[in-house]
Amino acid sequence: MSRMPFVAGNWKMNKTVAEARDLVPKLSVQLREVANVEKVLCPPFISLFAISSLLEGSDIGLGAQNMHWEEKGAFTGEVAPGMVKEFCNYVIIGHSERRAYFGETDENVNRKLRAALKFDLTPIVCVGETLDQYESGRTSEVVRRQISLGLADTDSVNARGIVVAYEPVWAIGTGKVAQPEQVAEAHAHIKNVLRNLQLDSVKVLYGGSVKADNCDKLIQLPGVDGFLVGGASLEVDSFLPIARAGMD
Ligand code: PEP
Repeated sequence: MSRMPFVAGNWKMNKTVAEARDLVPKLSVQLREVANVEKVLCPPFISLFAISSLLEGSDIGLGAQNMHWEEKGAFTGEVAPGMVKEFCNYVIIGHSERRAYFGETDENVNRKLRAALKFDLTPIVCVGETLDQYESGRTSEVVRRQISLGLADTDSVNARGIVVAYEPVWAIGTGKVAQPEQVAEAHAHIKNVLRNLQLDSVKVLYGGSVKADNCDKLIQLPGVDGFLVGGASLEVDSFLPIARAGMD
């Protein structure tokens, strides 16, 4: 792998602010030794303010798990890009849980992505097939569509900052990791789709039940530039080995 690896922890709807205040200083001390890896924490919105001050002076980035594309207005319960930018430099967009439970479409993903770039936030755009789509051999077609629509109309200079996370839906939170050959094949395909959009420099992460015992093998695969980690990002002992895997 030639580029600086990227490891992000998606806490999903876990950890209160008090729990975050307890975990982050411990994590931050341990992650100090993990050099030359871009490390990002994505806690729930409510903890962003507290964590941003805990991370001051550290090389750990902060990201939101979602945001709206509109800059302000009557969108009860939503958070605008400018509000995210007050604390974060990253934002996860189009996570499969948002697509499955909150009806997020590729068109929504594209609006959010363009808003993120406008506000100088690095978007981590999630793509990946469901079990049904995987079993019917549609992985390539599904991720091609998600990337083409999700990344449409982005100016190629800004778009260089985009990160794509390939997360087969059937591997998220299930303990089922995609086989190395399947991950390598999907990543090669995604890189090819990105190349055709003149987005060669976009990093492509793998996500889906990444753990201490599989990260070393996964990071060696061609086309894997790092990880988006869910469950294993919630504790120091499970996240640290994954962040370290990027170092070698
Ligand atoms: C995720 O939420 O993006 C994820 C990959 O979850 P997990 O690591 O728990 O499968």
